[in-house]
Amino acid sequence: MGNEKIYPMTYGGAQVEGISRDAVLNPFDLSVVGYSSVASLDQLDDAVRCARKAFESWSTRPDSQRAEACLKIAKVFEDNAQELSRLITQEQGKPLNAGGFGSGFEVGGCIGWCRATSILKIDDKKILDADGVTVIQKSVPMGVIGSITPWNWPLLIAVWHFIPAIRTGNTVIIKPSPLTPLSTLRAVELINEVLPPGVLNVVPGGAEIGAAISSHADIDKVVFTGSTATGRRVMASASENITPCSLELGGNDAAIVLPGAPVAAMAPGLFFGKFINAGQTCGSIQRLYVHESDYEAVCSALVELAKTTNVGDGLLPDTDLGPVQNKAQFEKVREMVGDAIKQGAQLLVGGESIGEGYALTPAILSHCTHDMEIVAKEQFGPALPIVKYSSIDQAIAMANSTDSGLCASVWGTDPDLLQSVSDRLIAGTVYINTHAELNPMVPFGGVKQSGIGVLFGEDGLKSFVNTKILYQRSVG
Ligand code: NAD
Repeated sequence: MGNEKIYPMTYGGAQVEGISRDAVLNPFDLSVVGYSSVASLDQLDDAVRCARKAFESWSTRPDSQRAEACLKIAKVFEDNAQELSRLITQEQGKPLNAGGFGSGFEVGGCIGWCRATSILKIDDKKILDADGVTVIQKSVPMGVIGSITPWNWPLLIAVWHFIPAIRTGNTVIIKPSPLTPLSTLRAVELINEVLPPGVLNVVPGGAEIGAAISSHADIDKVVFTGSTATGRRVMASASENITPCSLELGGNDAAIVLPGAPVAAMAPGLFFGKFINAGQTCGSIQRLYVHESDYEAVCSALVELAKTTNVGDGLLPDTDLGPVQNKAQFEKVREMVGDAIKQGAQLLVGGESIGEGYALTPAILSHCTHDMEIVAKEQFGPALPIVKYSSIDQAIAMANSTDSGLCASVWGTDPDLLQSVSDRLIAGTVYINTHAELNPMVPFGGVKQSGIGVLFGEDGLKSFVNTKILYQRSVG
């Protein structure tokens, strides 16, 4: 049975009905999970006014109170973990458990990021003190932050945006993806019980609300996570008011397996690095390059893992992989796999549709080449194209040949070779013998068309403050 509950938006500390409501579907069986309110542009303006008003006092609070607020928010996630995890599974599809990397992990990540951010701090710095002149560099809050989030890790990415913003004295308007708004709507409602009104607000809607946020004259910064195509539009409309943007965009991560790598020991890491969240993780392996000497062994090891992966309803305890989140993405993955096969790729296992919705079994494709779309473009789904290479230079050239530069990885045992290959890979994060790992203390961001700026750690925090210089000369 579906859930007929309507999820209101929250701004200025109050729950507000939208001008319309949209059904949110469970991507596994297409049942209705609940209804999201949809905001009008006037409601967005109201929410921005509330956030601006709240900024006046929130920005002047002592730092210790804002750190304390992060811990209170962590506690809200902890106390409501079961409800929020279930909601994420229902609207996004990732299983509750998934070997420890499902929706429970997503809510656990929200708790971890809130706690870690509570202890981060940017201190004022005395940068000059000579000849009667003292110069202090301060970091001051920017104002109202507009946050626009995608559907793949809906709640965790919302936290990645709002927790550093709040920690540094800003107030926030979040616009979740219309495909997965419910967990964010509910979480913001709950968090408002521990924050002053107007500090954290959520305004649901689609592209129109997103575009209004990025071009809004009274929003001081935009933080966007989503596709490169939309990121380009966000950047263009933010230019109207010279609004600074942090952009966390699409990736097409390459993984290179070096000759002589221990295949059996590495295969589970490669499989996880690709198929976490059914391949719908920005910084997950999208294409795998394997030296010809180990090509057959790597393909076989991954096929065996795919065969034992249980795909299905994320609410069932033994499900490893949930569905693709939406129809457009499901069709895109199937089309890319079909086109690759037409061009000579071999489907070794998977690619079957399961159930009424968008679940697909993990597909392993061998004999892939660099001119196939599934290799050259971000696929963002449960299919792994494997490309054979014969020289390290060739593998690095192929890995670096796309417009994306989010993450990359190199796998093997020779420390010098691992180091030299990692030095030559062009990406925001390069992993050795792992992939898709994140830590709230470690900056994360893409290069090339994968983004601008970083989130997490002290550098991430710095992207939510303005530098203000206090230049003072003593008289007499
Ligand atoms: P998307 O770009 O379609 O949508 C992202 C958000 O932008 C949604 O909330 C959407 O409603 C909104 N939006 C749409 N049009 C807009 C406009 N004109 N102006 C402002 N906002 C607008 O992305 P998606 O399909 O939800 O997410 C998948 C993509 O996100 C993938 O490309 C993935 O790689 C990327 N992603 C990147 C990271 C990262 O950290 N780099 C993390 C997660 C996802």
